Amino acid sequence: MRLVCCPNILTMPKNTLDQAFLRETNLSAVLRLIQAQAPISRAQLAVATGLNKSTVSSLVDELIERHLVHEIGLNSAGTGRPATLLEIDPFGGHIIGLELGVDFVSVGIADFSGDLVWQRKEDADPAQGQDSMLAQALHLVKDAIAIGKKKGYRFLGMGLATPGTVDLKEGVLIFAPNLHWKDVPFRKIFSEATKLKTHIDNDANAAAIGEHLFGSARFTRDFIFVFAGVGIGGGLFLNGKLYRGKNGYAGEIGHSPIMADHSQTPCHCGNRGCWETHANQFSIIQRVRARLEVKRDSIIPKLMADAHAPLSIALIKQAADAGDQEAASSFAEAGRAMGQGFAGLVNIFNPDKIILGGPLSIAGEYLLPAIHEVIPHHTLPEIDQQAEVILSSFGPNASLIGAIAIVVDDVLSHPTQVERR
Ligand SMILES: [Zn+2]
Repeated sequence: MRLVCCPNILTMPKNTLDQAFLRETNLSAVLRLIQAQAPISRAQLAVATGLNKSTVSSLVDELIERHLVHEIGLNSAGTGRPATLLEIDPFGGHIIGLELGVDFVSVGIADFSGDLVWQRKEDADPAQGQDSMLAQALHLVKDAIAIGKKKGYRFLGMGLATPGTVDLKEGVLIFAPNLHWKDVPFRKIFSEATKLKTHIDNDANAAAIGEHLFGSARFTRDFIFVFAGVGIGGGLFLNGKLYRGKNGYAGEIGHSPIMADHSQTPCHCGNRGCWETHANQFSIIQRVRARLEVKRDSIIPKLMADAHAPLSIALIKQAADAGDQEAASSFAEAGRAMGQGFAGLVNIFNPDKIILGGPLSIAGEYLLPAIHEVIPHHTLPEIDQQAEVILSSFGPNASLIGAIAIVVDDVLSHPTQVERR
């Protein structure tokens, strides 16, 4: 068993308020240990926290009463008395997650261990306008709540992952360049409609929290989550914490300039030369279109005709899977452009991992080899050798799982907000 940390244990209450704060802090510390390291016994929790066994037992009893933790049997390994093992109670509560993409809306219900038990994803057209897309999202969320209520779920909250910069305190989307939305009071809109405590975060930040709680970055202190889709965003997880910067807007890696040139098409943010314009979803579609204009040896036009569908990443992936060179080469070109940006991240942050997720990760098998090929050409060898570049455990659902993770993270920090039952 790998025991880590317990940084937040408190032992010296002064008054009632301090006692309540102490109790919540210690409940949170124990709950986080169980979430990260289950199956785990009370005795192991006592060792990890430094608290005495009776205090740990009392804290565990309360977590069981709140249905956040349950017992899962005995560990009879070793020579001592068998110990009862604990883990998070997946049915202690459910969470509604909403990922608002630029061209899709995805809603899911997850249990308290972060596993999706229901999901619905719909294409969306940002050209229809903000009101229409928000109505579509609200409709899906209300459907999810109705389905959950029929099953008797206790909802612990709702999480929303959105592209763009977010004011966490106010729950407002400040600016999403790829949607052209500004100052949208998401928390107010969704908490009024659902009556649930609603949390909002940037899509890449949320995904980074999800990877750290449930995915490829458990026990990883320094990693960067790269969301790749219509835009490219980053969640910077440094020294064991999400790095948000002075105003909370850190991680807008897609808008870092590779080489600005006045002849380039501007990015949706209004600037030229942004990294994401070389490596995002649209850049791949443009590459395929350019190839199809001069080459005819591709199955893509036939696939489009058969499906009566416009060119899309899913269709290009389908072509690449069937051995279409134009499709595979377009992904590889975009992968090399991604790799240049990744190399910058490796040089600056010296991360343990860079995790690629979001809609473009469905083409990960074509993008990753190109990314791996390019990074060593632009990094110092000592740094490059330490950085692992991998696909998200949740692929295109990384930010949806992230939306769920920000609610779970809040419950892990404030377990007493969940009622006993
Ligand atoms: Zn930009």
